[in-house]
Amino acid sequence: MTQDCVQTDPALRVAPEGPSGATRDTWNRKAGSLADWRQLWRDSITDSRELLQVLELGHLADRLPIEDAGFALRVPRGFVARMRPGDARDPLLLQVLPQLAELERVPGFVVDAVGDLAAREAQGVLHKYQGRALLIASGSCAINCRYCFRRHFPYGDEIAAAGQWRQALEHVRQDTSINELILSGGDPLALATGKLEELSQGLAGLTHVTRLRIHTRLPVVLPERIDTPFVEWLRSLPLQKVVVLHANHASEFDESVDAACARLREAGATLLNQSVLLRGINDHAGVLTALSERMFAAGVLPYYLHQLDRVQGAAHFEVTDAQAQSLVEDMRSRLPGYLVPKLVREVGGDPSKRPL
Ligand SMILES: *Cc1c(COP(=O)(O)O)cnc(C)c1O
Ligand code: SF4
Repeated sequence: MTQDCVQTDPALRVAPEGPSGATRDTWNRKAGSLADWRQLWRDSITDSRELLQVLELGHLADRLPIEDAGFALRVPRGFVARMRPGDARDPLLLQVLPQLAELERVPGFVVDAVGDLAAREAQGVLHKYQGRALLIASGSCAINCRYCFRRHFPYGDEIAAAGQWRQALEHVRQDTSINELILSGGDPLALATGKLEELSQGLAGLTHVTRLRIHTRLPVVLPERIDTPFVEWLRSLPLQKVVVLHANHASEFDESVDAACARLREAGATLLNQSVLLRGINDHAGVLTALSERMFAAGVLPYYLHQLDRVQGAAHFEVTDAQAQSLVEDMRSRLPGYLVPKLVREVGGDPSKRPL
């Protein structure tokens, strides 16, 4: 899934380029009244103490781990605005705030939780499942989620965009069994639209690829990213398009997210969502039911509910398999079948996500 991240932040290097090499000024003029997403990105909160102050929780600052437990806090201000001031248990806050519990070393919680290092076939390509190849298109994310399984992933040179896509696309060209290309990361929409245009030009000759899937959290955490140049790029692709969002709680949706989803659908994309089951955040049937209802109101269907990847520093988020199964049973009794996500776990070496 899209729980891919790095601790450094190359976004500030790639993002300011602008589509097709336009300078920021000309790009701003083209975007009209829309806020420039890159400016909003740069303006994100990256200081844990500042986040607590903004939320009137400054008294909790002495409970922060030093140096954010080795994984920097990052959260766009628009996402912070959806948190409840004064609530230390806010489900959005808990997804981003560094906790002392992350420093605990729990047996079974490791650095490379899903065997990505073994699955790498070419620069920036993960090809684990038949018919689908996943490109690590960007190492950056607009938000740093504490449970992310790649908080320790050594991206370095593994980002497909760094090599102008050549090596990654060469792998896809040579394997005609691949009919779906998945852009993941990091977050592929952290790339400037101009970079995405480079990719789609590279795809033009590959007739065996009929679907493009994008795994992204940006329409939820920084919906301004779904701007006109991006929507035009997406619409222009002669492929079937699937956008898999990542939201874990109904409170992550607001009118700006609804608008981003509407634009994606108008560009021809099918919208799905994957969530991670997180203790203290969404481990209640009522919360998960409200999430499904809320996402459907935005035109999004639930896809996967992931059991947490057992990554070092995330043990405090884990929900047992028995609890997870009973939560989904409960959802089944409350919702139409199409609003019940598939409960899965990613197991290294398996031919697909493993249903629970
Ligand atoms: C999760 C994942 C996919 C997508 O799996 P689906 O079941 O098709 O959603 C593809 N490739 C890799 C490497 C993955 O981790
Ligand atoms: S958006 Fe969050 S979960 Fe997804 S890759 Fe980035 S940090 Fe990980």
